[in-house]
Amino acid sequence: MAEVPPDQFNSQFKGTSSLFNQIPAKESQDDTKAPLPKGVVLDKDGKPCRTCTSVASWRALTKQAKAESAAPSDTSPLSSSADKMTTATTPLAAAASPAAPSTPAECPPDVEELGRSTWTLLHTMAATYPEKADIQQQNDMQGFLKFFSRLYPCWVCADDFKTWMAHPSGRNQPKLSGRKEFGWWMCEAHNEVNRKLGKKEFDCRFWEERWRTGWKDGRCD
Ligand SMILES: Cc1cc2nc3c(=O)[nH]c(=O)nc-3n(C[C@H](O)[C@H](O)[C@H](O)COP(=O)(O)OP(=O)(O)OC[C@H]3O[C@@H](n4cnc5c(N)ncnc54)[C@H](O)[C@@H]3O)c2cc1C
Repeated sequence: MAEVPPDQFNSQFKGTSSLFNQIPAKESQDDTKAPLPKGVVLDKDGKPCRTCTSVASWRALTKQAKAESAAPSDTSPLSSSADKMTTATTPLAAAASPAAPSTPAECPPDVEELGRSTWTLLHTMAATYPEKADIQQQNDMQGFLKFFSRLYPCWVCADDFKTWMAHPSGRNQPKLSGRKEFGWWMCEAHNEVNRKLGKKEFDCRFWEERWRTGWKDGRCD
């Protein structure tokens, strides 16, 4: 895809976002309309969910929306037949896109940028968690994770994360007694998403070097 200069890109997105917002959820679920580009995830109200979609898919959607609004036809790319409500496999397809560009600076995050930033927060919370956590600290973290898994802005990601944590065996419940256990648990949680997305798993023996102490070779010093 041709690069768009940042100033044009921003205004292009501004215009298109307001176009998205004007489309009522009901209309966006009309089965007669053109399909959404691959990887675009809809929010629960039927509108495109930017924080659930990769920037590549979002750009395809934007392009399609602009083309459709310029054309005399009454079809809208925001009115999907195939992807009315999505599953976690949809962002997986988007994330797996080989030519995925990165989000331009100072723009709203796509699913990947949001994910990277969030993992930084989550692993850093584990890295700064007490070596031995008292009951209050454990309860606070338990509460944070509970609300996090409800409120994370990529709703399909949040749903999967919540489901993983609530595995009936209890094996994925947060391990909150201290830093080592919690850091390892967070690493496993992240690896669960890595597997789902077809990414390489991280060796959890190194989570502290990655997120707390810096690597032993000194590159972070
Ligand atoms: C709770 C949650 C659920 C998500 N669910 C989805 C989803 O369903 N679909 C989707 O498309 N995206 C999802 N994401 C986003 C996804 O996980 C990635 O953040 C995104 O694809 C960008 O990946 P990345 O390759 O840049 O690195 P990231 O996976 O964001 O990782 C960032 C850095 O963390 C380190 N790292 C990697 N794995 C581990 C690990 N196991 N332990 C410790 N450190 C590690 C590496 O140094 C890596 O560079 C989710 C994010 C979160 C926080």
